[in-house]
Amino acid sequence: MELPRKIQAVVKALSRLPGVGEKTALRQTLVMTRWHANEISELAKAFENLQTLGKCIECGMYCDEKLCVVCSDETRCESEVLCVVENLNDCLAIEKSGTFSGIYHVMGGVLNPLLGIGPNELELDQLLARVKKYQIKEIILAVNSSVEGDATCALIKEMLPEETQILRIGFGIPMGGSLEYLDSLTISKALENRRHL
Ligand SMILES: [Zn+2]
Repeated sequence: MELPRKIQAVVKALSRLPGVGEKTALRQTLVMTRWHANEISELAKAFENLQTLGKCIECGMYCDEKLCVVCSDETRCESEVLCVVENLNDCLAIEKSGTFSGIYHVMGGVLNPLLGIGPNELELDQLLARVKKYQIKEIILAVNSSVEGDATCALIKEMLPEETQILRIGFGIPMGGSLEYLDSLTISKALENRRHL
């Protein structure tokens, strides 16, 4: 039996989300068919607002204001330690572990020539500028282990001034594992066991 086109359209859209198969998407869609009009509008509006989602002008983290909470914190800006992460999820995972008190640079991905992601897309110039501005002495690369991740770390190392200490977290992070799925203890251990690159 063919589903009505209006239902098909929502199922198709929801199925694009990670962890949502067609079956789940259909179940969710059917729940929404019973919602009030204003609930549907609210959901649609929330999705639409993502198009104008702002980023911190300093570190690139998603936020509502010009500056994120971390970059607005003077003590953190004066810590002289900067942690490079791939995305907001990794940043949240590290924040949750409560063991890092420096600032971040959120790249929004790793180098990937096939997807057209180069140094510009990762805002590496901005990273370099902030290393100078905040007199950063230590950079922690909290980048997941993968061919692309390793290439990204190598490029960052090449770009940074020689006197900057560059460390990479690795201990306890499984190869190909993603930071966002690790528990806080593993992340704190990984941060403690950072090693020179
Ligand atoms: Zn920020």
